[in-house]
Amino acid sequence: MRGVWLLLVLVAAAKADRIFTGDQVIRIDVQSKEQVQLLRALETEEELELDFWLHPVSTERPVDIRVPRSSLSSVKGYLHDHNIPFTVMIDDLQELLNQERAEMEVNQMMERNTKSFNFGAYHRLETIYSWMDTLVAQHSNLVTKLEIGRSYENRPMYVLKFSTGGNKRPAIWIDTGIHSREWVSQATGVWTANKIATDYGRDASLTSLLNTMDIYMLILANPDGYVHTHTHDRMWRKTRSQIPGSVCRGVDPNRNWDAGFGGPGASSSPCSESYHGPSAHSEVEVKNVVNLIKSHGNFKAFISVHAYSQLLMYPYGYSCWNVPHQPELDSVGRAAVKKLTSLYGTQYKVGSICNIIYPASGGSIDWSYDTGIKYSFAFELRDTGRYGFILPANQIIPTASETWLALKHIMEYVRDDPY
Ligand SMILES: [Zn+2]
Repeated sequence: MRGVWLLLVLVAAAKADRIFTGDQVIRIDVQSKEQVQLLRALETEEELELDFWLHPVSTERPVDIRVPRSSLSSVKGYLHDHNIPFTVMIDDLQELLNQERAEMEVNQMMERNTKSFNFGAYHRLETIYSWMDTLVAQHSNLVTKLEIGRSYENRPMYVLKFSTGGNKRPAIWIDTGIHSREWVSQATGVWTANKIATDYGRDASLTSLLNTMDIYMLILANPDGYVHTHTHDRMWRKTRSQIPGSVCRGVDPNRNWDAGFGGPGASSSPCSESYHGPSAHSEVEVKNVVNLIKSHGNFKAFISVHAYSQLLMYPYGYSCWNVPHQPELDSVGRAAVKKLTSLYGTQYKVGSICNIIYPASGGSIDWSYDTGIKYSFAFELRDTGRYGFILPANQIIPTASETWLALKHIMEYVRDDPY
């Protein structure tokens, strides 16, 4: 009888989870403007249900597309007919997801047995939330947990505040995981929070920073989306809000900020992965951050962490005009990336969002910059396209370690150049 129940539970679990068997991720190294146009045309074919991991922009950037099994022959035929060469980056997405899931389960068991937390593994929301409590308990002189509000599905949104005292000291903001499927982002957030807590009092530079400034970290910036990637659809990117009059759910929380809202690089279609939402700050997850930043009023840096592509970017996304502080942001970014590269040789590109990827309106760092937070940056972490969003867990710690060197450089710069 027990076996039957177990089977039923397994069947139910399998049913809940979206399956990607036979789906491929293909890469196109775009060679001409004409090819960009042809790929853009492909993007508008809704019935193919393509998921562009990297959008067609220019000949400088590759295009990665997750193609459902049912659309493989049409898409490959189209590319062939137009003489557009491609390579298969991921042959069967589900195989990679099964591997990821199996690794998580083994790790879960190990953590339970050893009552430990493995920073080199991916975790569910509840595990990350309970780890936060452990961190706060172990470093109560430095770390506190603030609930900044609730998500659309009523999950608490927690910010870890690292502070040695004072009232509204100049502060640094770091958020990870605003796009829920970019798992290495949240995992890097967890590692980084632990790094700050354990290095305080040991690392002279970080200690001096924390003696005059505070650091705020929002590790799960899109908690509903994150839970959804674990329970229903590993490829979920947006929030989970319901859109009146649409069968599709969710808003791209990085097109929802009041910065060129509704402009280029955002979609007005609720079914799009880059749907900007019914109005600026319509998403409560965005609004909660806006409220905190505004009521605090003394943030000096705003850093948003995404994956993948290995880029360090500054404003704007909504316009290709240079921001007034472009030379300074560019040189800070380049110096930060130099530090990052020094660890494992990982190559990054630096530039404004619009110039380095594409116009994208309603983004968080454009909003923070326009609010007066000069040092606004966005990271796109590893990789450059071998695994894309399904970065193996054994790359979490190397990714976080190298990223830390860049983050630290930016934070030290902010400490030493007050404005
Ligand atoms: Zn992202």
